[in-house]
Amino acid sequence: MNKYDIIIIGGGVVGTAISRELSSYKLKIALLEKEEELAFGVSKSNSGIIHPGTQNRPGSLKGRLCLQGNALIREISRDLGVEFKEIGELIVVFSQEEVSRLLQLKQEAEILGVSGLEVVDQAWLKEHEPNLSREIVAALYAPTAGIISPYRLAYALSENAVLNGLEIYTQSLVQNILVMTPVRHFGSTSLFEITTERNTFQTNYIINAAGLYADEISQMVGINNFQIRPRKGEEFLLDKKQQDLTNHLIFPLPTKISKGVIVIKTFAGNPMIGPTAEDVENKEDLSTSEQGLEKVIRMAQRMVPSIDKKDIIAYFAGLRPVADDDFIIRCEDKVPGFVNVAGIQSPGLTAAPAIAQLVGRILKQNGLVMEKKKDFYRQRKKTVHLSNLAFSQAKELIQTDRSFGDIVCRCEMVSAGEIREAIRQGAVTLDGIKFRTQAQAGRCHGGFCTTRIMKILAQETNRPLTAITKRGRGSEIVKEDRADDD
Ligand SMILES: Cc1cc2nc3c(=O)[nH]c(=O)nc-3n(C[C@H](O)[C@H](O)[C@H](O)COP(=O)(O)OP(=O)(O)OC[C@H]3O[C@@H](n4cnc5c(N)ncnc54)[C@H](O)[C@@H]3O)c2cc1C
Repeated sequence: MNKYDIIIIGGGVVGTAISRELSSYKLKIALLEKEEELAFGVSKSNSGIIHPGTQNRPGSLKGRLCLQGNALIREISRDLGVEFKEIGELIVVFSQEEVSRLLQLKQEAEILGVSGLEVVDQAWLKEHEPNLSREIVAALYAPTAGIISPYRLAYALSENAVLNGLEIYTQSLVQNILVMTPVRHFGSTSLFEITTERNTFQTNYIINAAGLYADEISQMVGINNFQIRPRKGEEFLLDKKQQDLTNHLIFPLPTKISKGVIVIKTFAGNPMIGPTAEDVENKEDLSTSEQGLEKVIRMAQRMVPSIDKKDIIAYFAGLRPVADDDFIIRCEDKVPGFVNVAGIQSPGLTAAPAIAQLVGRILKQNGLVMEKKKDFYRQRKKTVHLSNLAFSQAKELIQTDRSFGDIVCRCEMVSAGEIREAIRQGAVTLDGIKFRTQAQAGRCHGGFCTTRIMKILAQETNRPLTAITKRGRGSEIVKEDRADDD
């Protein structure tokens, strides 16, 4: 039986941020994730924006944690060597009547504590965003908005947590939780027994960060007071040759249920348009549609008319885990020691580091003795990405290790050295390599490099090619050649 002080369920950006934060304390902690790798849930399918806090009610938990997360991400990205680009956001309007709505947003955001806000006019927009529609009359400029790779952030957080002693169990779908009698010497906590498809664990505290499935985990301990409803967002990625389309993150006025269709540039430099916002039934429905595309194109072109459907090179859908209007982050009184971190829809990526700190405070208030480690390793060595290096730096790197000069993915300029590094950092699937390195994420979608990457993966992990998968069990690429096959 594996016994821990805390078990975190869910290895998305929220679970990994909590892992890193709690790994700074003298505690025995494990993270359980059902997928073969971390960040394969909602955290892999989002816009990657670090929001400034302009679109959340001043009194909301979401708003507060968004603002704090925006501030924390700067230090965390520096410590963990993850690139964060503070490029600023513009919420644009098309009529003088709408300007009053901008002023209201500005006022609300200032009450929340967002700094540097400014309403800019057409002349400013013409100079700084020449491709915007001439019908846009003004915009709310928020300089603290930025962009990050959501999965690189999650991987860096988890790597650092592991360095600090946290244990990660992947392919560990939580199937059942038994609440045993409260343990006296732990004060106000319980003893839980968690059964996964592989193991049984005991723990005194559970952090439920299971994203779309947080309601089902909560029901396992008898807490049924919320339900997660998936809200789909379809996103469309454009070719990098259009990378100068916009300089800032371009938003329309937000609606009641979403921030609207936006035009942004990802951390890798591709323009991206979307997402839609459509309530769906199925938590696994990641399909995209012609209607979704038409809607996104129409709304994006209203702001940036030169956007061309022909430049779309990839598309995907993500599901927002919607519960209440606000995030649900609380220790459940009925089950001492069980902490729900649920309904973490946007801006969950931004808020993740602040959510992690809040969870730490909740644990302390609920009886957990938390003593900081003196030898907490705050920093992580930055991963080398050839495409980010100046020519002279790349040359120097290749001279020291020739595998960095062996280009595997031509579209994104990713070398064999980077792929091997990703595998050493924990990648075991093709998607895991894509998310860490960008290999297979370019215009040819891996048409030229997939077989080569598979061979490197097989060699480095000592597995046959037939065991290599795109994203875990059931997504094998090469079938075993068996005599009894037709
Ligand atoms: C289209 C879209 C765009 C978005 N854009 C932004 C943005 O630009 N900026 C922003 O701040 N936010 C954005 N968000 C929101 C953000 O992506 C989420 O808030 C965040 O990723 C939630 O992370 P999480 O860790 O809670 O969930 P997940 O990443 O889903 O993590 C939960 C994990 O739990 C695991 N799990 C589930 N059930 C079990 C079980 N029984 N046993 C073990 N493991 C289990 C899952 O496999 C998963 O890995 C966007 C969301 C969408 C859908």
